[in-house]
Amino acid sequence: MKNNTNNQQQIAKDYQRVPLVLSGLEPLVIDENSNFINVGERTNVTGSRRFLRLIKEENFDEALEVARAQVEGGAQIIDINMDEGMLDGKKAMVTFLNLIAAEPDIARVPIMVDSSKWEIIEAGLQVVQGKGIVNSISLKEGEAQFIHHAKLVKRYGAAVIVMAFDEVGQADNYERRIEICKRSYDILVNKVKFSPQDIIFDPNIFPVATGMEEHRQNAVDFFRATKWIRENLPHAHISGGVSNVSFSFRGNNTVREAMNAAFLYHGIQHGMTMGIVNPEMLEIYDEIDKELLEYVEDVLLDKRDDATERLLDYAETVKGNTKETEKQKQEWRNGSLQDRITHSLVKGVLEFVEEDAEEARQAVDKPIEVIEGHLMNGMNVVGDLFGSGKMFLPQVVKSARVMKKAVAYLLPFIEADKDENSRSAGKVLMATVKGDVHDIGKNIVSVVLGCNNYEIIDLGVMVPPEKIIQTAIDQQVDIIGLSGLITPSLDEMVYLAKELEKLNLSIPVMIGGATTSRAHTAVKIAPEYSKTVVHVNDASRAVNVAGSLLNPKLKEEYGISLRNEYDKLREGFLNRSREKNFLTIKQARANKLQLDWEEFTPQTPNFIGVKQVAVNLDELRKYIDWTPFFRSWELHGKYPAILKDEVVGKEAAKLFAEATEMLNRIIDEKWLTAKGILGIFPANQVNDDDIQLYDENGKELNKFLTLRQQSEKNKRASNIALADFIAPKEHGKQDYIGAFCVTTGFGVDEISNRYVKDLDDYNSIMIKALADRLAEAFAEYLHERVRKEIWGYDAAEQLTNEELIKESYKGIRPAPGYPACPDHLEKKVIWEILNVEEEIGVKLTDSLAMWPASSVSGYYFANPKSKYFGLGKIKEDQVADYAKRRGISVEEATKWLNPNIAD
Ligand code: SAH
Repeated sequence: MKNNTNNQQQIAKDYQRVPLVLSGLEPLVIDENSNFINVGERTNVTGSRRFLRLIKEENFDEALEVARAQVEGGAQIIDINMDEGMLDGKKAMVTFLNLIAAEPDIARVPIMVDSSKWEIIEAGLQVVQGKGIVNSISLKEGEAQFIHHAKLVKRYGAAVIVMAFDEVGQADNYERRIEICKRSYDILVNKVKFSPQDIIFDPNIFPVATGMEEHRQNAVDFFRATKWIRENLPHAHISGGVSNVSFSFRGNNTVREAMNAAFLYHGIQHGMTMGIVNPEMLEIYDEIDKELLEYVEDVLLDKRDDATERLLDYAETVKGNTKETEKQKQEWRNGSLQDRITHSLVKGVLEFVEEDAEEARQAVDKPIEVIEGHLMNGMNVVGDLFGSGKMFLPQVVKSARVMKKAVAYLLPFIEADKDENSRSAGKVLMATVKGDVHDIGKNIVSVVLGCNNYEIIDLGVMVPPEKIIQTAIDQQVDIIGLSGLITPSLDEMVYLAKELEKLNLSIPVMIGGATTSRAHTAVKIAPEYSKTVVHVNDASRAVNVAGSLLNPKLKEEYGISLRNEYDKLREGFLNRSREKNFLTIKQARANKLQLDWEEFTPQTPNFIGVKQVAVNLDELRKYIDWTPFFRSWELHGKYPAILKDEVVGKEAAKLFAEATEMLNRIIDEKWLTAKGILGIFPANQVNDDDIQLYDENGKELNKFLTLRQQSEKNKRASNIALADFIAPKEHGKQDYIGAFCVTTGFGVDEISNRYVKDLDDYNSIMIKALADRLAEAFAEYLHERVRKEIWGYDAAEQLTNEELIKESYKGIRPAPGYPACPDHLEKKVIWEILNVEEEIGVKLTDSLAMWPASSVSGYYFANPKSKYFGLGKIKEDQVADYAKRRGISVEEATKWLNPNIAD
């Protein structure tokens, strides 16, 4: 790479560069005459699924082969990263570095110790041989931390990669890049006395051709910043993770390889010294097709407005494109029968499955053999791929759809052949407990278990305990799965456990759903049932758990180990909570939050009273918070970044496209209607913890009862209750409060059931997940209108949807059942003053869940000082006091507040 040398000499003309000297067993001297330095990236658990698997399985022999292959393949430094949630990263790093030290043909090259956790880096530095590189440090957590880490790197004698990242965030334009790099450099050189040649900047390589206007300059800004650093920060070097630049072309290796190569070419021209590169993802610059190169360089250098479209158009035509040609699409149809069936299942293709099932049926003696043979073989492949993280939940749910269709086709033949009995892996009863209406999670677990040959008896939502138990006995089920989303459901589960115990049953119970937890299962449910209880909160674990519960060889041991685990958890939990000190409710009130009411002027609302609000669904679309949508499908990550996520990005993008398609239909064809109601009332805090509402004429209406934190606080902190955010009556100022309920849930069950009838679980779950999103969006939309117009206490507010999601606005809308106000009974008060059921039809169940499920309710607090908090645990004296205020028995109050009462 002659260009490199020339260019660096030219850039370096006004001073003599000091070389960067690194070493493994052999030295690596990087100076003006060096070519570009390749850093091998395959020994990184976040970037390589294979390497991750090897490390997880502690198959270090093969993991070392990965490192060796890289060095043999030309990597001059190898990057090692063990940052994965399920790994003991520190231990893995130390073990692996020690093993490398014993392999001279690997240890020859310097090591880059890569982690986002300082303790892993430091552990690595303590064992690495020679002089390596730390990847990375930055100003992200402030100057003190940065200096501290830099001093340690210096003491351990390593070079360092400095990310262009500061307290504000990651540098994403030219100015920010140079500003942060300069600041970092000055601190390192002047304060830490770090050798400047040992500083390697990573000025952030970001994707281009994403379709977003603000990404157009991503590559250009990197190049310019690189050049500036080389000219202005003497002796420092530049590195970066190259393949990031071509991220939007995932799946199209031809284009990616060309983009990476061209980026590298220009990067080196501008003074880039080293980079993390996958050599397999790199074309030779001179061998890039000239037409493609032109389009790529137009994009990288941001030469034309239509550069991205032109590259996209070209990409459609080249090999390796994600859009297969018709011919490629159908090629799998030439495979063997089993291969075709497996393909349909893995890819979720519905089109040919009946035809293939028929062919299979004719090839076997008994139709059941098709299910137990061909289809199960295919589903086993799906199970393995899911288990190893190569398939994700939305895909599995689509596989289930194919499976169901095939089974439905075969069923009439099987029934004609009476003496056949399908051998299922086990019978599982699934139910959302009494009073609760949420079932997305439960349905997903059912689908996944169904895919694994379990027979599912789904009793639906709001299932009374008697029905659960009777069905379990009548149908001789092997497992009972209980689900619930709101806190009263926790007690339902405890009740069920007690009943099972009374009846001396021995069926194992699986617990899942949003409010459930391992701790609650251990502390409250397991002690009530002498047989096995297990908390399973994600569908991907359900299969393993069910397998262990039913495996005749394993189940006993599994039950014992679960019991031990929960016993330990419970003990630790109880000990910790017993250590907590509590105030009496009187003392807590004495320490309430005292806002400065003298200074306070309440904003008189533009509207007082109760009114319905209607909105077009289309209007709600832009208020949707998509992140929880992906979470409900067990794809974790923030939207929109998740669409480009290295691991789940492809699936997330597909799911998003299909969600958008359904959302369009929901809106265009008016599948759902949004109904909402709100009220704004004069109000004052009375008796510390209550909020008294009035009508326009000052006549007393209902009271909202709030609960007060009771655990002992550090010196300055107050024991808060929501009432503290409303002006106390004795101050003589008229304050206000609002309340609301919105829904987009009518019609959802019907649509969902139609999909279920059509054997389409995927879309039956999708419609529910989308309706939930629209309800949340409605709450967000209405709150904004309240702030800006209906109440109008912040008429000038201008926030983007992202800021709305972060709740950057003034005031709050706490929801009964959530941490600041866990008391669900308050919903009854809201229902009464707004006349919710009559006006918009939303009902409250026995457990005070809202029906339909896609509904949201809450209060509006306008005070800019109001904020969310958690009530925490409370004591019996407050429960008794509350019972009195509410006019109910202490027993009844205890029932509702149970999850919050200290043990
Ligand atoms: N954007 C999210 C919003 C739901 S979660 C979505 O689309 O799913 C945030 C809401 O939960 C808040 O608006 C509030 O109503 C409620 N909430 C969060 N923390 C709370 C707390 N500590 N006490 C009471 N309500 C809370």
